[in-house]
Amino acid sequence: MSNRVDGDLPGGRYQAGGAPLLEVRDLVVHHGQLRALSGISLTVYPGEVYALIGANGAGKSTLLRTIAGLHHPSSGSIAYDGKDVTGLRPEKRAIAGIVMVPEGRRLFPSLTLEENLKVGSSFARKGPWTIDQVLELFPWMKERRRQKTAQMSGGEQQSVAIGRALVANPRMLLLDELSLGLAPVIVQRIYAMLPQVLESGITVLLVEQDVSQALRVATHLQCLLEGHTTLEGTPAEVNREQVEAAYFGAGAAAAAAQPLENGIAGERNDT
Ligand code: ATP
Repeated sequence: MSNRVDGDLPGGRYQAGGAPLLEVRDLVVHHGQLRALSGISLTVYPGEVYALIGANGAGKSTLLRTIAGLHHPSSGSIAYDGKDVTGLRPEKRAIAGIVMVPEGRRLFPSLTLEENLKVGSSFARKGPWTIDQVLELFPWMKERRRQKTAQMSGGEQQSVAIGRALVANPRMLLLDELSLGLAPVIVQRIYAMLPQVLESGITVLLVEQDVSQALRVATHLQCLLEGHTTLEGTPAEVNREQVEAAYFGAGAAAAAAQPLENGIAGERNDT
């Protein structure tokens, strides 16, 4: 399933045969008694858009947060840029270039857009992304830089959260459920930033419940179900039936599946 090819893939370009940027091996993570991840492995190469999909509670956020250093694994390892970072503190990982846009955005609502971006640049690595570059990426922000983010729509806040991560100049950008609670048209607008982000040399690992959206942007796809990997491959290697079975579990797939064109995740609110 994981044969790699060179070339233009939907989300970006990566080189076959290069060294991985991120290697997760046999990761087991518990939340108290609950085993949220049961031996997850994945390998992300520079330039990829690697998408983690799966239903609520599958363990996607836990995996992303563990890679960012916010949960401690019970066993397994995480290597980044060839070095073991399993025990490294979150802020050290951020300085090394692993930066996350968390689920729910987690902005400072009483701060302005620009102040929120400045928060991201406080411990920034050297790199191409500045506040001005973010304002070029999302031009609507130029007029709104002094507005408090509490007064912004969900889609606008999501863009600010992305901008805040970019000004830290990540090499590995972790995006947790960008589309959560947003109308499809807003989601498209937000994902429109991806080519420029990839062009600047950033590699992306994202969590996405909307499978159609994941298939549109991903170079590689991994489906989780109850803490296990149920499917892995490039979008070209997997078909709809396989994705549905992997997403819901083989038994539940037939009953629960909705047309893939509408996204398996289903409901959306427009904010
Ligand atoms: P969602 O889309 O709903 O966020 P997910 O695939 O990201 O789903 P996780 O949030 O990683 O899944 O949750 C995996 C399991 O771990 C779930 O059963 C969830 O209830 C549990 N869980 C997640 N975070 C915690 C926590 N901080 N404390 C206790 N249990 C947790």
